[in-house]
Amino acid sequence: MTDYKTPDNKIPLFLPHSSASTDLNKTGSWRYVRPLYDEKTSACSAACPVGEDIARIEMLVSQQLIPQAWETILKENPFPAVCGRVCFHNCEGACIRSQMDDAVAIHHLERFVGDTAISSEQTPKIKALPDNGKKVAIAGSGPAGLGAAYFLTRLGYGCEVFEAQSEPGGILRWGIPTYRLPQEVLEKEINRIEKLGVTIHCRTPVTTEMLETFKTQYDAVFIGCGYGRTIDLKIKGAQKAINGLQFLYNIRAEHDVEVKTKGTAAVIGGGNTAIDVARTLVRLGGDPIIVYRRRRQDMPAFDPEVQMALNEGVKLKELLTPIRIEGAGSASEDHPAPYVMTLQKMKVSATEIKGRARVVPDGDKTEKLQVDHIFTAIGAEPTESWHHVPTAEHPSLTLSHCKLIDADIPIAYGGDLTNRVKSVADVSGLS
Ligand SMILES: Cc1cc2nc3c(=O)[nH]c(=O)nc-3n(C[C@H](O)[C@H](O)[C@H](O)COP(=O)(O)OP(=O)(O)OC[C@H]3O[C@@H](n4cnc5c(N)ncnc54)[C@H](O)[C@@H]3O)c2cc1C
Ligand code: SF4
Repeated sequence: MTDYKTPDNKIPLFLPHSSASTDLNKTGSWRYVRPLYDEKTSACSAACPVGEDIARIEMLVSQQLIPQAWETILKENPFPAVCGRVCFHNCEGACIRSQMDDAVAIHHLERFVGDTAISSEQTPKIKALPDNGKKVAIAGSGPAGLGAAYFLTRLGYGCEVFEAQSEPGGILRWGIPTYRLPQEVLEKEINRIEKLGVTIHCRTPVTTEMLETFKTQYDAVFIGCGYGRTIDLKIKGAQKAINGLQFLYNIRAEHDVEVKTKGTAAVIGGGNTAIDVARTLVRLGGDPIIVYRRRRQDMPAFDPEVQMALNEGVKLKELLTPIRIEGAGSASEDHPAPYVMTLQKMKVSATEIKGRARVVPDGDKTEKLQVDHIFTAIGAEPTESWHHVPTAEHPSLTLSHCKLIDADIPIAYGGDLTNRVKSVADVSGLS
C-alpha cells in the first residue's frame, strides 16, 4: 500500500500496489473495447402509462427545482396533482429499488410537485407550436377529452370541448369521491388546460346530428365519451338495487343520499366503482359488504384500494354471486333487514393466462345475506351505440391510446372507449 494524499492534503488515499507481473492483463486487446453509454428508458418510466421522465423529475426534486420538475411532468401529463392522488402508480410496481427495500414513492412525489405548483400559483412555461389554423371538436371532458385538448392545443390546433354534464371532468368529477380527489385540485388542473386556449362548452351533449355538422366545421373530431352506462343486474328483484355509479354521482352533485347509507349494505362487484361505493358508505356511517363472484386477487379494482377498504372495515365475500333479491323493504323481528339476497356459491374452474380465476357455479350451493341496502357495480359500457369505435366500414389506425378512423374527416376515439385498462393515466396521456 502506498500512502497518497488528496491535493488539499486532507484525505489519505490508499492505493493497492502490486509487485506481481501484469502479463496476465491483455491490455493490447482491451484498447479496442470501450464502454458504450446508452440512454435507456428507466423501468418506472416504461411502466408509466403517460411515459413521464421519472428519473429526471426525481433528480430535479432532489435539487429543489420544483417548477422545473412540474414542467417536466406537464410535458407528458396534464394532471400531475390528480394522478399523484388517483393513479394506480404502475411506476412503483416496476421500481427496481424495491429489490433492495421499497419502491420510491413516485406518486407521492408527483402529488407534492403538483400541489406545490397549485399552492404557489405557478404558471408553467409549456411550449406550444404556433396556431396551424386547424380546428378539432372534442366530445366529452373526462381525462381523455381534456388530455386530447391539451396535447392538440400544444401542437397548434384550436380545440373546443363539448360536455353533456354541467361541469367538466367526467369520472374525475362525478365518480371518484372527494376524499380521494378534492374538487379544487381537479378544477385547478382543468383551469390550466382552459388557459392554454381550450374552450369547454358544458351542458352540450353531442348528438349524431351534431357529429355530421362537425364534419363541415372542424378538421377532425375526438370522441371521449367514456363508459357512462352501468351494466344492469339481470336477476329477480334487481330493481331493488341502487346503481353504484349513480350513487357516487348523487353524492358529488349533493343530492340527498343520507337515507340510503345507514345499516348494512351489499355492494355487488369487484371494480373501482364497488370499492368507491363501499368506502363512501363507511364514511357515511354504513356497514358495507362487497359481494364478488371471483376471489380477492381477481378483483379488477387496484389492490391497495381494496386493502384500504378492508382496513376501513369493509367486509368482503368472495366466490358468491346473487341470483335473487327478495324483501318488502320493511324490517321485522324475524326478518331484521329489509332485503334478503340469495347468493350462488362459485368455484374456480380454471385460471386464465394472467392468473385470474374463471368461475362456475358450485352445484346448487347457496347462502342467504340480509342487508338494508343493495348497490350494484358490475361494470359499465358506452352510453350510446355511436360512441363505440366502428369496426369494419372505415380504414382505421390503432395508436397506443386511441383509434383513428378516416370518415370524411379524421375521427379519433379515445379514453375508456378504446383502452383495455380503464385508468386516468392510461386515458389522459394520448401520445
Ligand atoms: C367510480 C370510479 C372510480 C375510479 N377510480 C379510478 C382511480 O382511482 N384511478 C384511476 O386511474 N382510474 C379510476 N377510474 C377509471 C377512470 O376514472 C376512467 O378510466 C377515466 O375517467 C376514463 O376517462 P374518459 O375521459 O374516457 O371517460 P369519462 O371520465 O367517463 O368522461 C367521459 C365524459 O364524456 C361525457 N359525455 C358522454 N357522452 C357525451 C356526449 N354525447 N356529448 C358530450 N359529452 C358526453 C360524460 O359526461 C363525461 O364527462 C375510476 C372509475 C370509476 C367509475
Ligand atoms: S402517472 Fe401514474 S404511473 Fe406515471 S409517474 Fe405518475 S403515478 Fe406513476
